[in-house]
Amino acid sequence: MSKADALKRIIYIPFDHLHRNFGALKEADPKTDLIVMVESARMTTGRNWHKERLFFLISSARHFAKSLEVEGFTVEYLKAPTTVDGLKEIAKKYPKLPVICAEPSSFRQYEALQGYGAEFIENDFFLTPRPLFAQWADEQKSYLMENFYRKQRTRLNILMDGKEPEGGAWNFDKENRLPPPMKYEGPPYLEHKRDEIDLEVASELSFTATPTWATTRTGALKVLKNFIENHFAEFGPLEDAMTTDNWALHHSLLSPYLNNGLLHPTEVIHAAMKAFKTGAIPIASAEGFIRQLIGWREYVNGMYWFLGPDYRDNNQLGATRKLLPLFSDPSATQMNCMKEIVGDIQDRGWVHHIPRLMVLSNLALVTGTNPQEFLDWMREVFIDATEWVMVPNVIGMGVHADGGQMMTKPYAAGGAYISRMSNYCKPCVYDPKLRIGASACPFTTLYWDFLDRHSETFAKNHRMSQQIFGLKRLNDLSELRVRAKEVLKGLEQGKI
Ligand SMILES: Cc1cc2nc3c(=O)[nH]c(=O)nc-3n(C[C@H](O)[C@H](O)[C@H](O)COP(=O)(O)OP(=O)(O)OC[C@H]3O[C@@H](n4cnc5c(N)ncnc54)[C@H](O)[C@@H]3O)c2cc1C
Ligand code: SF4
Repeated sequence: MSKADALKRIIYIPFDHLHRNFGALKEADPKTDLIVMVESARMTTGRNWHKERLFFLISSARHFAKSLEVEGFTVEYLKAPTTVDGLKEIAKKYPKLPVICAEPSSFRQYEALQGYGAEFIENDFFLTPRPLFAQWADEQKSYLMENFYRKQRTRLNILMDGKEPEGGAWNFDKENRLPPPMKYEGPPYLEHKRDEIDLEVASELSFTATPTWATTRTGALKVLKNFIENHFAEFGPLEDAMTTDNWALHHSLLSPYLNNGLLHPTEVIHAAMKAFKTGAIPIASAEGFIRQLIGWREYVNGMYWFLGPDYRDNNQLGATRKLLPLFSDPSATQMNCMKEIVGDIQDRGWVHHIPRLMVLSNLALVTGTNPQEFLDWMREVFIDATEWVMVPNVIGMGVHADGGQMMTKPYAAGGAYISRMSNYCKPCVYDPKLRIGASACPFTTLYWDFLDRHSETFAKNHRMSQQIFGLKRLNDLSELRVRAKEVLKGLEQGKI
């Protein structure tokens, strides 16, 4: 019997299920399973994707396909207009074989593959099965991440001392909110050598990739090791700080690999807990990191599926402004924070959670930028952007477009927060303390203007009462409204 005749199933591997031991591959057999991977034009040319991101996703997938071939699998890696077109093409060559896939990670792909007749097995790329999350969410009055996280700690028995949290507290936020130290360098991050597959992908994209992101499992494991050995101990205290002296400031840089499957969260947790148990990692850093993984990451994925496909279209604050030019061109602004952050994103497709939340999303929120335009931009430019993670983070957490379904209050902030947590403000032409006048910080002006514009909506929200009280005490509200109009116009023209 020829190898092709022995094939019994097609296993379809999406570009975010690249792990041999999870998903549809975990019980795959090189003798009887045909592996199919489709590089769809929808994914590669459908949008104005950051080339670093495309490079990372495609090169990782091609390396993974190669590793399966080396293991003895028959692999069909093809380019097609869409995934389903690719599968139809394969069906002509291998008729009548059933298509098996782990549940896809987005509503759109779920629908497309279900429509095609693919058979799903449970998606085990997360620690929380979708039905288990839905069960938790159904029991909640409000979907507080903190409540979910505590339940996860207990359920998964991570950082627990019997029934109590290890270290005597569920979180160490107070210790974990330090501003950046002066001239802070820290140990360097890894650089990855490019091989033949990388160079082929880069050439197809007419792009020179940075050495920042690994495109193989071996490389991803090296990043994990480097984080555990050189950064983990100091992760917690500086987790929220932003500095131009160090682009990653002890963050793990693991999200791209966790999201495309090169690493599984259990592997990261195992490595983190092993290091913690040696006594070398302070509890504040260990807890801060574990919270991100078993708390935020799982919560966000759970909420994506729980809230449904229409959630992404929310615009409950009626925000209609078009995306500002500074998001695609850092020279279109004088705001130093935005210039630096958008520059960093252009350089490597990554900044950590605070620039994403308290600078980029904050600006979209207080300028009243259309949430879907902002979401699309975020999806296009980040190395780790996937639908399930961006939608709740942007629509719910970033720009409060869901009317508070996810977060009880918007993360709006003036320049004082950015000034405290970064070194962006000192060289900036604007002054974070000022809300009116030509040198007022746009964030500070627009923060108050945002509260003013939505004061009726937030009047009913007791968590916003302090801010609304502050607004009522402003004695320069009319000047502020005038300045806010100037700032918004200047931002649209790329002059502020
Ligand atoms: C507006 C906004 C958009 C975001 N978009 C994405 C995105 O597209 N893809 C993405 O993976 N993360 C996203 N995040 C979460 C977070 O910013 C990134 O996961 C993190 O910056 C990645 O860098 P790291 O791996 O060094 O993370 P670390 O700070 O080292 O954290 C460890 C891990 O925790 C997980 N994590 C932490 N916070 C979150 C969160 N809010 N949601 C989900 N996972 C989390 C990530 O897997 C991350 O790798 C977003 C956050 C915000 C506020
Ligand atoms: S002053 Fe305002 S605009 Fe300038 S860097 Fe600080 S927060 Fe950004």
